[in-house]
Amino acid sequence: MPNVVTRFAPSPTGFLHIGGARTALYNWLFARHYGGEFLLRIEDTDRARSTDAAIAAIVSGMEWLGLTSDGEVTSQFEQAPRHREVAEHLLKTGKAYKCYATAEETAALRATARENGEVFRGDMWRDRQPDAETAARAYAIRLKMPRDGETTIKDSVQGSVTVQNSTLDDMILLRSDGTPTYMLAVVVDDHDMGVTHIIRGDDHLNNAFRQYQLFAAMGWDVPEFAHIPLIHGPDGKKLSKRHGALGVDAYAEMGFLPEAMRNYLLRLGWSHGDDEIITTQQAIEWFNLENIGKGPARFDFDKLDNLNTHYMRQLSAIQLLSCVQNDLEKRLGVPLSEAEKNRILAAMPSIVDRAKRLPDIVDGASLFCNIRPLTLTEKAMKLLEGQTAQIADVANELAAITDWKPDVVKAAIMSFAQARDLKIGKVMQPIRAALTGGAPSGDLIELLDILGQEEAIARLKDQAIT
Ligand code: GLU
Repeated sequence: MPNVVTRFAPSPTGFLHIGGARTALYNWLFARHYGGEFLLRIEDTDRARSTDAAIAAIVSGMEWLGLTSDGEVTSQFEQAPRHREVAEHLLKTGKAYKCYATAEETAALRATARENGEVFRGDMWRDRQPDAETAARAYAIRLKMPRDGETTIKDSVQGSVTVQNSTLDDMILLRSDGTPTYMLAVVVDDHDMGVTHIIRGDDHLNNAFRQYQLFAAMGWDVPEFAHIPLIHGPDGKKLSKRHGALGVDAYAEMGFLPEAMRNYLLRLGWSHGDDEIITTQQAIEWFNLENIGKGPARFDFDKLDNLNTHYMRQLSAIQLLSCVQNDLEKRLGVPLSEAEKNRILAAMPSIVDRAKRLPDIVDGASLFCNIRPLTLTEKAMKLLEGQTAQIADVANELAAITDWKPDVVKAAIMSFAQARDLKIGKVMQPIRAALTGGAPSGDLIELLDILGQEEAIARLKDQAIT
């Protein structure tokens, strides 16, 4: 397919939410698959609701997801003169007309139509000429919609969808204050940007019929449409905050990796056989519109966690450390020392084994930092109760080791237990509590090994003092 151009066209009225992120991803993948272009257009025509903070959140959310757009980011608002020009052109060619109705008159006619169960077509000035007084009024420009026949959208996801043209209103293109409507702006921009495929949420399907007629009125090629079913919560209801309808930034903060998020969003509405783990490279190779699901996808945090676990394990210890270093240093209040970094790197395979999200890695890694004296959990306190003397003895025994190696350390602990006729668990549990303060940890001998003799003994001695 030559010259594919897709676009993501968010309205900057809030954060980049999960549905928007998925739309952006599909547009990006489709463009990358065909070696085409993926454009970002900020639909900021609603001046009262558009904010710079929202634009920044959208741009940074896309950056975090790795969805780089091609060319300049465009502002729809800045194209207003061009939108006006198109409205004027349609007026000149008789495809549009001047509507002199005031806001009050329009509201009254709309209310009457509703009361009578009729479609409000907004066509009160379609076949009417103004008198001299009215002609001096400000006017809106409305599109002359065809009244007969039907409009069919061949949607790549929804299939062929038809509406009767009698249900389409003579929509306003230019308001009486000279501002272009959203409907006009979208069509003009999509045409001017050379967009070939419009992939977006199916809440825009109804707009597509009206937009189709506007493309037709201008004699422009109509792009292909693909309206994706919206995302629902696990209970099948419309996605709410409780379900996970949060900004992409919230997912970054919760400790999901962008690659896990991409994989998750891809599968949330698109499939490739039974494949669950799909790398971005594979996604670019395989993505198509045919395999977009026709029913609403259900958001599922467990699946996202599973994918995140998978992708975290694909990273090297060094990569993982760099993912968490900032947060870890924030928690410690000081930069990591080389010794701490080395310990964390050595422990990383077992840390990541128990982690679902990045904060779990921060927790696991913090155990290997200089955090003495440790704050004990209640459980650790219980395990250490009455064990002060024993811990002091263990500390002395371990201090005597001259060759700090896992098997030597293990043998020393075993013989300590045997000499006192204690079960090995009875000795190990308080040692672990002293070394970790009760935080989750992996194999005890590995922990002792990685902490090193000095740090391990210092932690034991901290708990030996009453
Ligand atoms: N600006 C619209 C929105 O945020 C999208 C319009 C479109 O994709 O055509 O929902």
